[in-house]
Amino acid sequence: MEKEMPYKVYLTEEEMPRYWYNVKAHMKSKHGPFLNPVNGKPCTKKDLQAVFCDECVEQELNETDELIEIPREIRDFYRMFRPSPLVRAYFLERALDTPAQIYYKFEGNNTSGSHKLNSAAAQAYYAKKQGLKSVTTETGAGQWGTALSMACAFYGLGLDVYMVKVSAEQKPHRREVMRTYGANVVASPSDTTEAGRKILAEFPGTGGSLGCAISEAVEKARSTPSCRYVLGSVLDHVLLHQSVIGLECKTALEKYGITPDVIIGCCGGGSNFGGLIAPFMGERLEGGNNIEFIGVEPASCPTLTKGRYAYDFCDSAKITPMAQMYTLGCGFMPSPNHAGGLRYHGMSPVISRLYHDGYIRAVSAEQSKVFDAAVMFAKCEGILPAPESSHAIKAAIDAALECKENGQSKKILFGLTGTGYFDMSAYKQYNDKTMADFIPTDADLAKGFATIPNCEANKNNR
Ligand SMILES: *Cc1c(COP(=O)(O)O)cnc(C)c1O
Repeated sequence: MEKEMPYKVYLTEEEMPRYWYNVKAHMKSKHGPFLNPVNGKPCTKKDLQAVFCDECVEQELNETDELIEIPREIRDFYRMFRPSPLVRAYFLERALDTPAQIYYKFEGNNTSGSHKLNSAAAQAYYAKKQGLKSVTTETGAGQWGTALSMACAFYGLGLDVYMVKVSAEQKPHRREVMRTYGANVVASPSDTTEAGRKILAEFPGTGGSLGCAISEAVEKARSTPSCRYVLGSVLDHVLLHQSVIGLECKTALEKYGITPDVIIGCCGGGSNFGGLIAPFMGERLEGGNNIEFIGVEPASCPTLTKGRYAYDFCDSAKITPMAQMYTLGCGFMPSPNHAGGLRYHGMSPVISRLYHDGYIRAVSAEQSKVFDAAVMFAKCEGILPAPESSHAIKAAIDAALECKENGQSKKILFGLTGTGYFDMSAYKQYNDKTMADFIPTDADLAKGFATIPNCEANKNNR
């Protein structure tokens, strides 16, 4: 029996998930393995363990277990900021005058301000348990670096964060939060690595890029004893950790007999969307529901809607393994005047596969429209959303307005991944009406596609 949900629902401690949900166990067609960048052969477990923590590699390669236990120590950490609330957006519904019901899961209630802490907590714990002394990572907008700093402080682990230089300069406060939690923050490119020195010699004065910061972080991990590299999105084990979002949603909704008709998430590397939909998608793949899943990406970096399904590198320096995914090409350069995150050239291999097989719909949104939605949401529901999250808000509002037109009362669930307090320069642009929209032309896209490797695995795939 369906009951009306109150404004805000939190699970009790007993109802909290004890297992993560591995959607791959239900996927009949799975993405291909990582390929070694040197010889083009599938990466072995050992290849991956040279870079990533052992337990994360196990999870990365696990295609069979639907449920993977969340260790007690991680559940303890989760207690500091979970459960996150599931909210019925009554005020937004009223403002839109729609017969649709809108629900959102809010992941911004922690100091890092986003869902990324769900995976940071897990990855830092596994690194510590393996006896490592430190980890390295890169950060662009800074949410991941902040989340990982908090997790490393909690478990007593050293951390080097390579922060894209322009972000480090534009967001000095983000950098300071990380340093407060004990992280060593290095503006990238730096002279502390071979990769960084090479880029600096070639492009003096460059503001850096995510791809370059990844190269530096991986090199640092490889050349430091008792150290590994960790990544905050894209990889299967990160989606696995984020499934805690979807599991909490499902339990809360089931208490009220509610099944969503539409589930919407923003897509950068695909981790929050993958985590939000995981248990619902697992059910869908077994014929258990007919939910419409919608991923929303920026029109300035249209990986799913305009990209190719191919093997590509995960970084721009081409030192990481190649992954089978939707990609704009590892050399794709998103417009610098795009405000929010979500600027990655690739996409989670799991999300890519589900999209390729027709289980997910993808849409893109221009940033000025995204900020219109963000401001409307802030005024109705009180939360100042992150620009990334606002892509999902925009699509949820569109879906609700469509319901109004068609007289449908669909139940729409979306992921509100975080808050936007560190993005005030983007809000300033919006308020000053200086925000520009940028949509790459076919010629821009062609330049990116030309950087997709011409490897054997892509020969039959073009
Ligand atoms: C990082 C981030 C995203 C995008 O990353 P995904 O891996 O696609 O989830 C979205 N929203 C916020 C607030 C983020 O910090």
